[in-house]
Amino acid sequence: MSHTVPHVVVVGAGFGGLQAVRAMDTLPVRITLIDRHNYHLFQPLLYQVATAGLAAEDIAYPVRKILRQQRNADFYMTEVTGINTKTRFVQTVTGDMSYDYLILAVGGKTNFFGMESVAQHSVGLKTLQDAINARNQILRMFELAAKELDIAQRRAMLTFVIVGGGPTGVESAGALSELIRLVLKKDYPHMDFRDVRILLLEGCDRLLAGMPEPLSEVTAHILMKKKVEVRFGSLVPDFNGETISLKSGEKIAARTLIWAAGIQAEAVVNTLGVKQAWLGRVVVNSTLQLAEYPDIFVIGDAAEVEGQPLPMIAPVAIQQAAVVADNIKRSLEGEKLQPFVYKDVGALATIGRNAAVARWHRWQFHGFFAWILWLFIHLIRIVGFRNRLLVLMNWAWDYWFYDRAVRLIIPK
Ligand SMILES: Cc1cc2nc3c(=O)[nH]c(=O)nc-3n(C[C@H](O)[C@H](O)[C@H](O)COP(=O)(O)OP(=O)(O)OC[C@H]3O[C@@H](n4cnc5c(N)ncnc54)[C@H](O)[C@@H]3O)c2cc1C
Repeated sequence: MSHTVPHVVVVGAGFGGLQAVRAMDTLPVRITLIDRHNYHLFQPLLYQVATAGLAAEDIAYPVRKILRQQRNADFYMTEVTGINTKTRFVQTVTGDMSYDYLILAVGGKTNFFGMESVAQHSVGLKTLQDAINARNQILRMFELAAKELDIAQRRAMLTFVIVGGGPTGVESAGALSELIRLVLKKDYPHMDFRDVRILLLEGCDRLLAGMPEPLSEVTAHILMKKKVEVRFGSLVPDFNGETISLKSGEKIAARTLIWAAGIQAEAVVNTLGVKQAWLGRVVVNSTLQLAEYPDIFVIGDAAEVEGQPLPMIAPVAIQQAAVVADNIKRSLEGEKLQPFVYKDVGALATIGRNAAVARWHRWQFHGFFAWILWLFIHLIRIVGFRNRLLVLMNWAWDYWFYDRAVRLIIPK
């Protein structure tokens, strides 16, 4: 690989970063993709790892394998700690690296909105480790409850509270209900399942705020049929590991709080010293560049295009990646850069077996067809044929046998 061609450093092997690297495969550049992990993670299915439906390795794929065929790209596993915009260096825990163009696709991290006690005692759902921790916690509570004689303690162990009524909270609540009522009920034949409670707490007055209102209502209705207690206007300011305190003053005795209430931009973008919007997202111009440093592009969850606040979803990151790759090509050829315009691809969320809600342009639907669409779209978006096959086999097995393949408590 020649070192005289421009060096493009891409930070983040998530949806945006990976797509950007792939889209630059014919460009006369040297690409270094950096990530703290050596895998690309399919975050939309994290909740299925948390609820024992899939194994961690089913939804993660080695970056080096993805890049094997790409001659102009290399991978570097390290943690980026800062960006020196003046000297054009990416600072990492293992040394600095210079760039000619930088694409920051670092995504987000769980946002506890500064609530230390919640951050300390709850489980998030953003990383693979989070999902494994959540699965361990859920299954461990059942093991403890099976031996617990004190009824109040047992009920607290069997009370599972999910905070956040967005897609992650909704999907987690539906999957947890099915894990408990369809699978664990058979594993613990001597347990009284009337002690089990699943609560989904949402701060606003409806679930899936990004969906049309009728679909929010359908979602709440389906969850309630699955014995999930859906509560609106419920804000959680404190959790000490045994009691969840709501802003209303109500206390809920519970050992498990799954936090699905927010994401904020990764902290490394703070080192850019540029304008940031709500949730710490870096403000970029329509061509996805920083106004002050046109050699730096920021995309995906970490970015907010000026005047176009878009949701933190994979299609935004993927579409922006294509535009950035094209803009780097245009920049190399001395052409005018093109602006990013988001093409709405709709929204989908599943609530469990045969149940999902979907919006596509002005159409909205729910039920079995929406569920099949959800399965299909998620399956084709998973990277790697082997992973696709594993996920499909797991889904088929769980569907036909009312089972969950990965009911393992694996210590950290
Ligand atoms: C539980 C969950 C469910 C979701 N479900 C859906 C869904 O159903 N549909 C949908 O469209 N979207 C969904 N999303 C959102 C979607 O995953 C994100 O919008 C998308 O991943 C954003 O892509 P990105 O490239 O910006 O960042 P990411 O895909 O998050 O990738 C960021 C990458 O950067 C790396 N990184 C970050 N900081 C550093 C650093 N300092 N040094 C080195 N590496 C670093 C990370 O390790 C990561 O690999 C979900 C998200 C979550 C958490």
